[in-house]
Amino acid sequence: MTKAIICRVALAIPLHKQFDYLLPEYLSADFLASEQQLVGCRVRVPFGGKRQMVGIICEVNPELDYDIAKLKKITQLIDHSALLSDKLWSLLNWASFYYQHPFGDVYQQAIPTVLRQGKEATFKGSEHWQVSEQSLNIDDFKRAKKQHQALTLLGAQCLSTSSLKEQGITRVTLKALQDKGVLETIDKQPQVNLNWVNDFEESTEKPNLTSEQALAITAVNQQNQTFNCFLLEGITGSGKTEVYLNIIKPVLQMGRQVLIIVPEIGLTPQTIQRFQQRFNVPIYLKHSALNSREQLDSWCHAKQGSAAIIIGTRSAIFSDFKDLGLIILDEEHDASFKQQDGFRYHARDFAIKRAHVEQIPILLGSATPAFETLHNALQGKYQHLHLTERAGNAKPPSSSLINLAGLPLQSGLSPQLIELMGKHLEKNNQVILFLNRRGYAPVLMCHECGWLVKCGRCDAFYTYHKSANYLHCHHCTSTLPIPHQCNDCGSTQLISTGVGTEQLEESLNQLFPAYPTVRIDRDNTRKKESFNQYLTDINNGKYKILLGTQMLAKGHHFPDVTLVALIDVDGALFCNDYRASERLAQLYTQVSGRAGRAEKRGQVVLQTHHPEHDLLQELVNSGYQDFSRHALTERQMAQLPPYSFQALLRCESDNATLAESFLGLCKQVIEQITQLNKIERRLFVLGPIPASMERRAGKYRFQLLLQADHRALISKTLHQALPTLDKLPEGRKVRWSIDVDPIDFI
Ligand code: ADP
Ligand code: ZN
Ligand code: ZN
Repeated sequence: MTKAIICRVALAIPLHKQFDYLLPEYLSADFLASEQQLVGCRVRVPFGGKRQMVGIICEVNPELDYDIAKLKKITQLIDHSALLSDKLWSLLNWASFYYQHPFGDVYQQAIPTVLRQGKEATFKGSEHWQVSEQSLNIDDFKRAKKQHQALTLLGAQCLSTSSLKEQGITRVTLKALQDKGVLETIDKQPQVNLNWVNDFEESTEKPNLTSEQALAITAVNQQNQTFNCFLLEGITGSGKTEVYLNIIKPVLQMGRQVLIIVPEIGLTPQTIQRFQQRFNVPIYLKHSALNSREQLDSWCHAKQGSAAIIIGTRSAIFSDFKDLGLIILDEEHDASFKQQDGFRYHARDFAIKRAHVEQIPILLGSATPAFETLHNALQGKYQHLHLTERAGNAKPPSSSLINLAGLPLQSGLSPQLIELMGKHLEKNNQVILFLNRRGYAPVLMCHECGWLVKCGRCDAFYTYHKSANYLHCHHCTSTLPIPHQCNDCGSTQLISTGVGTEQLEESLNQLFPAYPTVRIDRDNTRKKESFNQYLTDINNGKYKILLGTQMLAKGHHFPDVTLVALIDVDGALFCNDYRASERLAQLYTQVSGRAGRAEKRGQVVLQTHHPEHDLLQELVNSGYQDFSRHALTERQMAQLPPYSFQALLRCESDNATLAESFLGLCKQVIEQITQLNKIERRLFVLGPIPASMERRAGKYRFQLLLQADHRALISKTLHQALPTLDKLPEGRKVRWSIDVDPIDFI
């Protein structure tokens, strides 16, 4: 009889625990004969009753302190060799330790959905359709409109189900035609080009580099065979993308792959086009809007080496590569790089760690570097590269403040701003108005007694959405029909107060009927196509006034925009989150970057009730560079990140006392450990305190903050505490999680 082999398996469950299973005998024999490696292979295992789960083998024949007779058997060994490369495997282990998140879940998040379900890691063929009957008379189908349309589209071509769907032809229609014997399907494998390096070509259409660009490029290219972290701090319009293209080139020429991480792909079609136009290599995208088959294909391309460049959002940082040679992280300050639930990793930090493990360079690019990054660069940990001038002929915009105090406002617009807009529009230029509040109005209020319509499940007011005709809570997404009467006094006079983008749009149509306005926010750009259509229409000059939320602030080029106005910035000035001022400064700088990109000089205007505020003065007069250096010294004095490190224990429950007291217990456990380790003076435990939004979606939320001057103190302490915290019975009555390096305290 063969010796029993026991596998320790990590599963995607929220427990810091792994489970042992027996390898079935027939597999054990194979395994012993071939010395095949089991660690890193996916398996299907029974878990809790009848359920089958996909897990990953982490250890073979671990030391045991119990009888193995009770162990269940592995149902299926899915892979016959480790699915991921050794480097990626060790990085995921590091991430699991650093973010205190169960390895099984870390692993599952790192691979495409279909692999999580246990499917094979090979390209998926995709279904295509073609006409099968030679002597087909399309006119016979005139009465069935959709079928007729499908046949006309197909003609002599062979098209995929998804491309036909994009043109309005559903699979039902196609299936009906197949049943009539008119259409047939074929399975097409994607093209796999492993020899792209042999045909490598660069487009000759490219600008002459500025001297700053040339300097930055040389700095990176001189050291492109080893680990180095570069920060490219370049003002908007300074030509950072051109730098990216020039450091990518030699890496591709060596036949190595490049990973580019961006905040949001749907928002940057123009940037992707620039990569495609420059190099004739296979480029694949990796983001959540892809369907599961496309996700798997792009994953396979990266792993096999048939993708020269992968451009993706946050989770693309986990792509497995055949030979990764360079990582670029664009807009590195963007908050979307931090995952805000479950496995709360930061893609930037993971990327830097990854570049280190892979021994390759990484470049972080931004006009407004995050303070953490800037601090590392100023300390010399990262190599700091600068682009201080706009590329081409573009001049930086001029900035000014409008003091709103006492002015009559029209949907938030001051008379000065309205006049200014008129001047810019008359010259046939475009104007951007920026208001980070969607909906019609942020509050609905009783005109007689002041009663406000509050969400019953959150510490927040309902936002009034006029065209959709309902109230909407932006925190728990619940909706409510518009009430007819005040709850308190019964008055029917309910009025909206404050201004959202929907209302501003209405006013702009009245104020500037001759100049078409377009509104860009999450309410009217849910579909990717509609957003792209808007971008095209804006560039064609169909719209003159562009009104939007944060979405408009991200990397678009609108050459005819000469005026950018921030309608209301006061909210961020007096916020108790110490990062609010950093975010406002980044937003202001990014939005200003949209003005005057080409030959035309731009102008930026900020409306505020507090024109004397230090932050605003410094931003307007000196810009982000000076502001950020100054603000960093303030952080240092207050011993706040990046001069200290934090972790947050979050807890929520229907019952406020349960949530708070569980964190109280956590605090005791953690303080015992710090005392044992004699670091109680270096690691502070603050709280529990209520979250800044104490109630959200019906749950009461509390937080416990850990702060120390070294990362390692926090991660070691938490690691030691975790087994005890996991076992606290009180923890089962609440939802709790750990957020290492938190970026918000909402
Ligand atoms: P950033 O990403 O820094 O905001 P971009 O890379 O988008 O800036 O460049 C802004 C504009 O300047 C683009 O239209 C780009 O084609 C152009 N550009 C970049 N480098 C140069 C250069 N060396 N000479 C002329 N134009 C350039
Ligand atoms: Zn009332
Ligand atoms: Zn709510």
